[in-house]
Amino acid sequence: MEQRQFLLSQNDIPQEWYNVAADLGEPPPPPLHPATQQPCGPEDLAPVFPMAILEQEMSAQRWIKIPDAVMEKLALWRPSPLYRARDLEKALGTPAKIYYKYEGTSPAGSHKLNTAIPQAYYNKIEGTKRIATETGAGQWGSALSIACNFFGIGCTVYMVKCSFYQKPYRKSMMQTFGAEVFPSPSEKTEFGKQILAKDPECPGSLGIAISEALEDTVHHDDVKYSLGSVLNHVILHQTVIGLESKKQMEMAGDYPDVVIGCVGGGSNFGGIVMPFMADKFAGKNVRAVAVEPKACPTITSGAYKYDFGDTASMTPLLKMHTLGADFVPPAIHAGGLRYHGMAPLVSLLVDKGMIDAVALDQLDVFNAAVLFARTEGIIPAPESSHAVCEAINEANRAKQEGKETVILFNLSGHGFLDLGAYDAYFADKLASTAQAEG
Ligand SMILES: *Cc1c(COP(=O)(O)O)cnc(C)c1O
Repeated sequence: MEQRQFLLSQNDIPQEWYNVAADLGEPPPPPLHPATQQPCGPEDLAPVFPMAILEQEMSAQRWIKIPDAVMEKLALWRPSPLYRARDLEKALGTPAKIYYKYEGTSPAGSHKLNTAIPQAYYNKIEGTKRIATETGAGQWGSALSIACNFFGIGCTVYMVKCSFYQKPYRKSMMQTFGAEVFPSPSEKTEFGKQILAKDPECPGSLGIAISEALEDTVHHDDVKYSLGSVLNHVILHQTVIGLESKKQMEMAGDYPDVVIGCVGGGSNFGGIVMPFMADKFAGKNVRAVAVEPKACPTITSGAYKYDFGDTASMTPLLKMHTLGADFVPPAIHAGGLRYHGMAPLVSLLVDKGMIDAVALDQLDVFNAAVLFARTEGIIPAPESSHAVCEAINEANRAKQEGKETVILFNLSGHGFLDLGAYDAYFADKLASTAQAEG
């Protein structure tokens, strides 16, 4: 029988995270203090994050041990499966081999639990009583609410308003795990009230929701903040994806010519790609392609410069590709890809020519998602469907060129709580990017 699944045993869960900062040859550009514009030290960020997280954020150590209590929880679903998309290949008639790593088997339905668990754990051991955070499409809020529940701490989620109404079951899910959820901009914070006074219909953005979560954090002593993407420690935690994938590709007897992932803040992409970047630094020929929506083209249209992570200019300045901290993207269905900035580590590697990027239209993306569902049987999250679409584009190019390209992409999550977006697609109500912007 043709092999479709490449499965590891629980003993193969990586015991250390890979820190790409160790292999850059120079320290990455530091975050700058919002007031002084001087490099931030851990003490500047201590009111917001636990120390262990800040040490990881600024670490230059190549391998960082995963704590036992975190391993125990990761073992609930890791290692995640890697599949060969044989029926998709056949449908495309491509000589390319398409592999995908599936992160939708996590209890949260996406890769985000890989970092939510260590973040909740480090907060717990440092005495945090509650975590405040933002969520776009709801996946980060879902993941963090599960993790906070595991470690017995409270969780408050500011959810971007347009997603709050597009994806009502996300709220149900978060509440199941004991979190409290507010549509953002909300009346819960001064910043939310300000925005609503100017524009009561504001659909919200991650930048605004981050400002609200930060305001909640700094006004309460035992509350800390947590970010589900963008920062170095998040990319670090997500490297379990790429580390497992490398072993699984070895089982399959292949090595990818190209590794593809969708990018919102860059964490699932960074997670699968960074361990392959280690090979690239060592001279291996592997391409990495970041896929973003045309409606929020952070890498392909943004500037590479210092910018704020949020709309209210409360965060440190990060050197990253950015569309501007006040950018409010159209309400596209891939809510998790509506962030104005990009992970500084991903941005830096783009700038060094190590990572390529492409921006896709949401209609093409949904066409690809439906083909994938009908061949491989998994309904992908709209975010992940960007990676699916580019993998298909790559396989079609391989067909034209008659090449047996080996493609690996990250299927970051399933779309079971995004079926409203599929409804809109089948009812011809899904705008192409041009219309969404118009
Ligand atoms: C949040 C999310 C993304 C986008 O975030 P990244 O940090 O860029 O990974 C992509 N896919 C899924 C399923 C998500 O939940």
